Amino acid sequence: MERARTLFPGGVSSPVRAFRGVGGEPFVVDRGKGSRIWDADGREYIDYVLSWGPLVLGHAPDRVLEAVERAMRKGTSFGIPTELEVELGERIVERMPHVEMMRFVSSGTEATMSAVRVARAATQRDVILKFDGCYHGHADSFLVRAGSGVATLGLPNSPGVPDALAALTVVAPFNDLASVESLLRSYSVAAIIVEPIVGNSGFIPPDPAFLPGLRALADAHGALLIFDEVMTGFRIAYGGARERFGVTADLTTLGKVIGGGLPVAVYGGRRDLMERVAPAGNVYQAGTLSGNPLAMAAGLATLELLTPDVQSRMTRRTERLVQGLREIAARRRVPFTADSAGSMWGFFFRAEPVRSFSDAKTADVERFKRFFHAALERGVYLAPSAFEAGFTSDAHSDADIEETLGRLDDAMAAAG
Ligand SMILES: *Cc1c(COP(=O)(O)O)cnc(C)c1O
Repeated sequence: MERARTLFPGGVSSPVRAFRGVGGEPFVVDRGKGSRIWDADGREYIDYVLSWGPLVLGHAPDRVLEAVERAMRKGTSFGIPTELEVELGERIVERMPHVEMMRFVSSGTEATMSAVRVARAATQRDVILKFDGCYHGHADSFLVRAGSGVATLGLPNSPGVPDALAALTVVAPFNDLASVESLLRSYSVAAIIVEPIVGNSGFIPPDPAFLPGLRALADAHGALLIFDEVMTGFRIAYGGARERFGVTADLTTLGKVIGGGLPVAVYGGRRDLMERVAPAGNVYQAGTLSGNPLAMAAGLATLELLTPDVQSRMTRRTERLVQGLREIAARRRVPFTADSAGSMWGFFFRAEPVRSFSDAKTADVERFKRFFHAALERGVYLAPSAFEAGFTSDAHSDADIEETLGRLDDAMAAAG
């Protein structure tokens, strides 16, 4: 880390990795397999961060590695169409039929940024509406009350984002339809963009009326609805938010899981909107490594293995983990609330359920920091921030979950 700090800001390639949200020094990872990772000193951890979401089958799954190796031997990138892109695209449409047409990119940030460009072009409006605590990548327009990394670092906004651009992003509290309606009346909004379940300021589910309400309000005011499913996509249900909540977005962004641990994201949706993207239309967006065969192969192998059976097995184990944590906290009289959807989960040290980022910020962060370090000492790696979701993978066995609960019981005692 000393060498890293001379080379990289904060010693890291992405801010949350630096452990600023919990204090102390991050460990340096050497390798992972299944539910476990090992650091450079040989210490083993059960991993609930999973590269921040992508590794839905756990670390280094053999079938995915084999698929990547097969692709790699044929060449790593061509910059011309390959059959693998079509296959992964078809796999996505099977699960999300409303994603009629799509474009592959290499990061979630690119996907959301490009989806907004399409929405602005289609509506000929400039303003976008996002929610306090939702993170949609680091593009300028989104760094306005953007959750975890930003919240943890205490940067409500980022220097370097022009005021003129930030002024085109308006922000409502999550789960607050009245605020959304009032903003839609005051501004000519191109699109509402939302994480259907928030994972970037801790785990915050929508109230039952919230997503249907957004759909209705968007329609009433001529705005498009964008579901940013970069985190929730293929974790909260086989078919994502539409399947789970019965609400269909005009545009959807996916990332993380669909790349199986390699850099892939996608934006897509209604055909009439996506046909505006160059070269079919005149909305420009491009990428040298977009749709590259290694990433496509990893994504394909991952989605093939992620069957409804696997999905429900992970859901059941995640529910057991969350229920176990609630029981531990109750027995130890620690104010605690926890929830999950599929293989995505989270908790706060606060008695009442959390409905918005302002609720999340009233949780006991000092207790979280003590708990995080106590868990790490006992070989359980949780997200190093009180404002991040956790993940499980299909490699997290029933035995892993029980072992985790035993260790976290001790950690909760040690954290006081
Ligand atoms: C991770 C994430 C992004 C950004 O994806 P990157 O690949 O890190 O650029 C965007 N939206 C959501 C909801 C995310 O969780």
